[in-house]
Amino acid sequence: MNTDTKCIHTGGFPDTQTRGINTPIFTSSAYEYLDTDARLYQRYFNTPNHEAVVKKICELEGAEDGVVFSSGMAAISTTLLALLSSGDHAVVQDEIYGGSHAFIEEHFKRLGISFTFVRMDAQAIEEAVTSKTRVIYVESPTNPLLGVIDLRRVAEIGKRKGILTVIDNTFATPINQNPFRLGIDVVLHSGTKYLGGHSDLYCGVAVAGKDIAARIRKTASHFGGSLNAMSCYLLERSLKTLALRVERQTQNALGIAGFLEKHSTVAKVNYPGLESHPGYKIAGRQMSGYGAMLSFELKDLRAIDFMKRLGLIKATLSLGGVETTICDPATTSHQKVSGEVRKRLGISDNLLRLSVGIESPEDLIADIQQALEGK
Ligand SMILES: *Cc1c(COP(=O)(O)O)cnc(C)c1O
Repeated sequence: MNTDTKCIHTGGFPDTQTRGINTPIFTSSAYEYLDTDARLYQRYFNTPNHEAVVKKICELEGAEDGVVFSSGMAAISTTLLALLSSGDHAVVQDEIYGGSHAFIEEHFKRLGISFTFVRMDAQAIEEAVTSKTRVIYVESPTNPLLGVIDLRRVAEIGKRKGILTVIDNTFATPINQNPFRLGIDVVLHSGTKYLGGHSDLYCGVAVAGKDIAARIRKTASHFGGSLNAMSCYLLERSLKTLALRVERQTQNALGIAGFLEKHSTVAKVNYPGLESHPGYKIAGRQMSGYGAMLSFELKDLRAIDFMKRLGLIKATLSLGGVETTICDPATTSHQKVSGEVRKRLGISDNLLRLSVGIESPEDLIADIQQALEGK
């Protein structure tokens, strides 16, 4: 089956009672257990709606099994704490989602887990590995600078040294990048973004091989960040249009990145689909599309003034929806990262992050152009 077909036809199951073609929503929090081995319970992540949506995501990522959570951070924090114990060490790419960065900094030390933040480069990761390293954690492309790391090399380091590799694949989506197929052990998503795709659903996902997924599910059943049946269904429904949405969004983003790069008021554009981007070649090798996120800096206009001039495009905290949205990461996604770290990473106070939607590219460019030129 090809990806578009998988989006529609994998995972879910029909309603046997009415022969309705959509997966029914199983609302029970109590299931009978006599005369059966089944022990269904929402916090065990094993209800029919969990399994229906997990199967679809696994088919799309090429993974064996997975867990759906009530947020992206629930997926990230649960996975890391399932795989790491007191005394262990983690090598973490420094350029990652602000919430993940803050979680590691605030909690690992307290739990006796040591960590080294390294720049976004496979060589730097290898050099930071110690005899205690159990996890290598990366994100590619990154939020918000769209940095790209060579995932085959990261996976190879992990396999050679017996270390689990984990990626936050939110920005790429399973349509544009399948890290599990490149050898990465665990693939995470904030499903709140592209998987949900309509800015109305909070969820997170972890997919992996069978054994690792079982470890994550066990820890998850203790932490309890399970996704309810209604949201599982909404996520399953959203995934049916994932390929369609992401392909259009990616195409729109490429057009907008090209427009911005040529505009005289724009100082810099970060998009892995531009030849000027340092990760262009690696992205071309490991991604089937360059994604629909980009960031840029203006020469004179302040970020806040630019955002206020926009009409169609709204300034919002989230991303990945069908509507185009924008934000300034310094006061939003990376607010919890210290000013000093932001400066080192290159997240300037004037950086703008654009999440490109499925609108007509002409309308989007017209809105951006009038805001740049103040017409
Ligand atoms: C939003 C986001 C998260 C966190 O997800 P939530 O669903 O908000 O908890 C993690 N990683 C990336 C890359 C994100 O964009």
